[in-house]
Amino acid sequence: MKILIINAGSSSVKYQFMDSDSGEVFAKGLCERIGIDGKLTHRVPGKPNYEADIPMPTHNEAIIAVLDIMVSPEYGVIKSVDEIDAVGHRVLHGGAEFTESCIIDDACIAAIERCIPFGPLHNPANLMGIRACRQVMPDKKQVAVFDTAFHMTMPPKAYIYAIPYEYYEKDGVRRYGFHGTSHRYIAGRTLKLLGRENNPEGTKIISCHLGNGSSLAAIKDGKVVDTSMGLGPLAGFPMGTRSGDIDPTIIEYLMGIYNMNIGEMLNILNKKSGVLGISGVSSDFRDLDAAAKDGNERAALALEKFCYEVTKYVGAYAAAMGGVDAIVMTAGIGENNGELRGRILGGLEYMGVKIDPELNAKRGDERLISAADSKVKVFVIPTNEELMIAMDTAELCK
Ligand code: AMP
Repeated sequence: MKILIINAGSSSVKYQFMDSDSGEVFAKGLCERIGIDGKLTHRVPGKPNYEADIPMPTHNEAIIAVLDIMVSPEYGVIKSVDEIDAVGHRVLHGGAEFTESCIIDDACIAAIERCIPFGPLHNPANLMGIRACRQVMPDKKQVAVFDTAFHMTMPPKAYIYAIPYEYYEKDGVRRYGFHGTSHRYIAGRTLKLLGRENNPEGTKIISCHLGNGSSLAAIKDGKVVDTSMGLGPLAGFPMGTRSGDIDPTIIEYLMGIYNMNIGEMLNILNKKSGVLGISGVSSDFRDLDAAAKDGNERAALALEKFCYEVTKYVGAYAAAMGGVDAIVMTAGIGENNGELRGRILGGLEYMGVKIDPELNAKRGDERLISAADSKVKVFVIPTNEELMIAMDTAELCK
C-alpha cells in the first residue's frame, strides 16, 4: 500500500510517502513556519529539491500544500490524491491507553487528548496534524502510531517509581519510555539477523538509539522489559541538550540560588544541558568530536560522560536480562560515529563483547561489527521509524 506518513510539530509537518511493502520512499519533505508564514521543502529521489514559500496559517494549509505538490506534474509522484491508500501519524505519548497502533476515530482522538498532560508539547501538535488530515482528506483512513506503545510490556518493577503508589494509581505517574517505534524496528531486524524472528523466546537484545535524543531498551523474548526514558523524554543518560537523570535536589538548589521558576529550570534541563551543557560548545556530536580533537577539555569531558553513562546502561540492562545476545547501535550517532561506538562498547570484553575495529570503522547499511569470537553480536542497524508507521498503517487499513 502507498502510505502518507505525517509527523506534526507545533509549527511544522514532516511527511514521507512510501510503499509499505517494499519500503520505497517516493517523496518526503517538510512544512515549516506554520502559523508564521510558511515554507515547503519537497524531495523526490532523483529530482531537484523543490522549495517554496506558501502561506500556512494553520496545519490545514500545510497538508493541502503537501497534497498539491504530490500531484503536481513537475514535482509530483502521483496523479491524484486517490493514490494515497491511508495516512499514518506519529504520536508521541499514548500513555497506558495504547499498547499498539490504532485506527484514528473519535475515541482514539479523545484518548490522545487524555495523554496531553504526559506530552504537553507534542501531543497537541500531533493532534493538529491529525485534525488537519481528517478535514482535508475526510475519506482516508488514518492510523496513530505511538512512541510509547512498544514499551508497554515492561513489568511493574521496571515502570514503577518509588514514590507514593497513589501517584501511579490516580495520576498515571510511571515509566513510559520513548523511541518505541525505532526500538521495535531494531528488535524486528535484529531477531531476523539472529534467525529468531519466528522464535524470539529466550533472546536478549539491547537496542541503543543514540541521536540528538537518546534512549536504550532492554528487549527480552522480543518484548521490552526496561527502557531509559521515563514519564517524559528527559530521563535516562545525557543527550544533545537534555540532562538525563539528575539528583532532584539540584532542582530546588538551583531554583533557590537563581530565583528561577520551574518552567525556567525545565528549559535548562531540556534545552541547555546534556553534552551541550557540559561542553558549552554544541549539542552536535560532530562539533564535539572536532572541538575535543582541537584540545577543548570540556568537549572531551562531555563525550567521556556520554560514553560512560551509555556503557553503564548497557551493563545494567545485561544484568536486568541475565545476559545479552545482541547489542544494536542506531540513530545519528549510533549509525555514524564508529569512534563513539568503540568507546561505549570497548570496555565490555568481560561481558563477552568484542568489537572488530575494522568492521566498526566501515561505513554502510545494516552490518555486524563484532569480532567472530565475540560472545555477544554487535550490529549497526539504520533505524526506519517511517517504515514501521507505514507497515502498521497498511496492516490496520487493509
Ligand atoms: P539524530 O537525532 O538521530 O538525527 O542524530 C543526531 C546526531 O547524530 C548529531 O549529534 C550528529 O552529530 C550525529 N550524526 C549524524 N550524522 C552523522 C555522521 N555522518 N557522522 C557523525 N555523526 C553524525
